[in-house]
Amino acid sequence: MPLSLMTLSLVDSPVTVEEGRKILERDDYRCQYCGLDGRASFENALVMRVDFVVPRARKGKKDPSNLVACCTPCNTIKGTRVYAGMDEARAFVLARRVELRNAWESKTARPRAKSANA
Ligand SMILES: [Zn+2]
Repeated sequence: MPLSLMTLSLVDSPVTVEEGRKILERDDYRCQYCGLDGRASFENALVMRVDFVVPRARKGKKDPSNLVACCTPCNTIKGTRVYAGMDEARAFVLARRVELRNAWESKTARPRAKSANA
């Protein structure tokens, strides 16, 4: 992946481009919450960032052990809550994504197109 894409996605990150690249490389450019593959497309690359497992707002350290590759939607959903660990954080994010998807689907549901037999 061209470094310029990562630079774009890390513009407002508290970690440097080089620090961020190391974390993304370690995590194979995959969101550690939902598994989104940051290398699969330009659009995916644009939303990849580095997440503080324990948020900075909660005094989480800028240390590789507290940093993971993450997509922007999961980062937003995770917020600044404090979790017992990565497993609990992942479980929360994935459960919330399901809730949000269900809400979105119920609000955007359209009547099915009539079949030829109807
Ligand atoms: Zn994600």
